[in-house]
Amino acid sequence: MSAACQSDLTAISDLPAMSFPDGESVPEILINTSLLPSDVDGTEGIDATHDADPAVEMFNNEDPNFDFFKPTDQTVADYFRHNSRTEGFTPPPPGTQLSGEILFRAGYVAGLSTGQAAAFLLHEVLHTLGGIDAQIQKVLGLPTGNGTENISTKLYNDCFKGFKP
Ligand SMILES: [Zn+2]
Repeated sequence: MSAACQSDLTAISDLPAMSFPDGESVPEILINTSLLPSDVDGTEGIDATHDADPAVEMFNNEDPNFDFFKPTDQTVADYFRHNSRTEGFTPPPPGTQLSGEILFRAGYVAGLSTGQAAAFLLHEVLHTLGGIDAQIQKVLGLPTGNGTENISTKLYNDCFKGFKP
């Protein structure tokens, strides 16, 4: 493993508590990176663009989206159709009905190399363990506020760029 990848994994192993201007806060999350491969096994990848599950099940009841989608009949597929920049969404634990699933845009993943797909999967698995993008971006020294693909890109460059299946 490259030193850059080792450094990323060390950083990821301790996601700091954070609080945000809107009053939201997240606790510190310790991640045993040696268990990440088995964590991947515990998830289920779903083609979100054909997923008829209710969109409300993507969120826990503390998320404003929960109240937004609850009275609607919108599905996960509708959510992805309306959020064209969302390539993947991993419902966070706890209290989210679809937690444990990794919802992805099939057309996006189909266009990834094996190494890029591995980086995308590693990024999303961190969400199944409770990490949020802002925490991951913080420990990896990445900017926030302009999407979250920079996480997958950094993991790809540091860990999977030379990956050949
Ligand atoms: Zn993310």
